Amino acid sequence: MSSNTESGAAPLDHVRIVLVGTTHPGNIGATARAMKVMGLSALHLVAPARFPSAEATARAAGADDILARARVHADLEDALVGVRTVYGTTARERHIDWPAQSPREAAAAIAADGEEVAIVFGRERSGLTNQELDRCQRAIHIPTSATFRSLNLAQAVQICAYELRLAHVAAAPATPAPREGRDPPAAAAELEGLRAHTLAVMEAVGYYDPAQPKLLERRLQRLFNRAGLLHSESQILRGFLAAIAQRVSRGD
Ligand code: SAH
Repeated sequence: MSSNTESGAAPLDHVRIVLVGTTHPGNIGATARAMKVMGLSALHLVAPARFPSAEATARAAGADDILARARVHADLEDALVGVRTVYGTTARERHIDWPAQSPREAAAAIAADGEEVAIVFGRERSGLTNQELDRCQRAIHIPTSATFRSLNLAQAVQICAYELRLAHVAAAPATPAPREGRDPPAAAAELEGLRAHTLAVMEAVGYYDPAQPKLLERRLQRLFNRAGLLHSESQILRGFLAAIAQRVSRGD
C-alpha cells in the first residue's frame, strides 16, 4: 500500500521527479531519500553519469526501492512520455519569459492535478539547457539569497517534495468528520447557551460585572465560534459550568 493513502486524499503517484544529466551518484541516492520521506515514488533519470552505483544506494539510506524502480532514459523527451504538465526548476531567473512560481504555489496546483506531472531538475554544474527549459510549461524557482541562488540538487528536490507533501496533507481533512447524527458540531443555539451560561457563572464567581461588560461578551462569542466545538464538547463545558454554579450557590 502506498504511504500516500494514509491521509485519504488523492495520492502523489501522478508526480514524477526527473533528474537530467546528474553527475554525482550521491545526489541520485539523496534524491530518492528526499522523495520517499515525502511520499513520492516515481524517479526518472535522464542520461546519468553513473547509475546504478553503490554511492547512490548508500545515500538513499533505505529508499533503495525508489532506486530499484527508477527509470533511466536517453533523453528528456523519453522521460516525459505520458506527462501532461512539465515543471522545470531553475536557480536562474533569466531566459524565462514567464514568471517562475515558488514551490508552494506550484505544489498546490500539482497536488490538485489529476493528470501526470513531471518536475525536472538540472545538472549540478550547469542546470537545465535553454532548450530543456523551453520544453517546460512552467518554471519553479526556490527563493534564495540574491547573491547565492544555487542549492544542492537533492536539497532542491527535498524542498519541492516537502511542499507537495504539505499541499497533499492540506487537501485531506485534518480531523475525521464527526459521524453524522452522533456527534455533530455544536449548533448556533448551543453556542449561544454556552456563552450565556459562561457569563452567568463568571458573574456568580465575581469575575464578570454586567454593569461593565467591556469586550468580554464578544470575545467569548468569538472564542466559542472559532473553537469549532462538537455537541459533546459543548455538553462537557455546560456540565462543568453547572457544577461550579452549584458549588457557588451552596457557598462551598
Ligand atoms: N548553476 C546552475 C545550478 C544548478 S543546481 C544553474 O544556474 O542553473 C542543480 C539543480 O538544482 C538545478 O538545475 C535545479 O534543478 C535545482 N536548483 C538549485 N537551486 C535552485 C533554486 N534556487 N530554485 C530551483 N531549483 C534549483
